[in-house]
Amino acid sequence: MRIEGLRKSFGDNVVLRGIDLDIRRGEVVVILGPSGSGKSTLLRCVNLLETPTDGKIFFEDTEITAKKTDINNVRAKVGMVFQSFNLFPHLTAKANVMLAQQKVLKRSKAEAERVAIEQLEHVGLGDRIDYKPAELSGGQQQRVAIARALAMDPHVMLFDEATSALDPELVRDVLGVMKNLAKGGMTMIVVTHEMGFARDVADRVIFMDGGFIVEQGSPEEVFDHPKSDRTKDFLGHIS
Ligand code: ATP
Ligand code: MG
Repeated sequence: MRIEGLRKSFGDNVVLRGIDLDIRRGEVVVILGPSGSGKSTLLRCVNLLETPTDGKIFFEDTEITAKKTDINNVRAKVGMVFQSFNLFPHLTAKANVMLAQQKVLKRSKAEAERVAIEQLEHVGLGDRIDYKPAELSGGQQQRVAIARALAMDPHVMLFDEATSALDPELVRDVLGVMKNLAKGGMTMIVVTHEMGFARDVADRVIFMDGGFIVEQGSPEEVFDHPKSDRTKDFLGHIS
């Protein structure tokens, strides 16, 4: 994936001020930065939930920011997991994971069901497929949301503070699923405050502030030898 000169404004509020980023297949990129620095906006642009004000995003030789792009096709290939799980409350875990497969990928009910069960088992919820969201813990709900995204056979997964709304004891299971996904070779862009995860799993850590990439490098480079004062200041406050 390649992001070139990405800018995004909301009215007078300039949020992304020119982001350039190349992400290799299988790479795990962790994005850090203070509140309001534009992390979510960047992910939302990659998933076309926001229309960039300027710049281009290429994904597997296709410019996804081109006008003719089929947004549903991009959303299927670029899975996204949010802080809030956004599951349908009246549907079981299995039905939640089946829905987009049938609607967007036009899979048959039987095929969607097979994939849903497989993905729910994958995230450790094989014994919860018929539970509704209210009958599941936050961590289990988030794993349903991850299974739902994975059922679409995405080529990239975006995680926006996927564990921030969870009780501490539930965070580990969700991070475990994300870690396995990374080990399996998934390309991932992860916004998180989990520094342990970033150190263990990230191939590259990016520090954003004020709509710019201020600094990037390996976890060792960014955490142990930050170059920018802004990065040092940020890391000093959270660790
Ligand atoms: P946090 O760590 O708090 O999640 P963030 O780095 O994800 O912060 P963004 O959510 O990308 O930050 O927001 C960056 C800026 O863009 C903020 O000033 C926010 O008010 C603004 N913004 C984001 N989405 C919208 C929107 N839909 N309409 C108007 N302004 C928006
Ligand atoms: Mg955010």
